[in-house]
Amino acid sequence: MTDQDLAGITRDSCPFCGERVKLSFWALLPSKAKTLVTCRACGQRSQIAGSTRIGAGVAGMIGSGIAVALTVRTSVKLCVVASILASLVAGHLAARLMLRLDPPELAD
Ligand SMILES: [Zn+2]
Repeated sequence: MTDQDLAGITRDSCPFCGERVKLSFWALLPSKAKTLVTCRACGQRSQIAGSTRIGAGVAGMIGSGIAVALTVRTSVKLCVVASILASLVAGHLAARLMLRLDPPELAD
């Protein structure tokens, strides 16, 4: 047994079989609802961990706050658009960085 054997447990690994699960861009956007993904290798469903979603939500808020601070003196419309975009992008990036998949029955 080498370290290579354990390499299957990566952040986006299926909690059932260890295969990497492909996640769509949308699955990683900040959301309060549970996001279920299906593993292509074993067909089991898993969910994006609560800690991942919370981290993404916080990052989204920070991103949108920064965007507002940068654009608030320009125009209201630009400010709103920038804050929404920044929260989505920051939330998505944070979710990728902190990604973990849990079995769906696991409580957050
Ligand atoms: Zn699997």
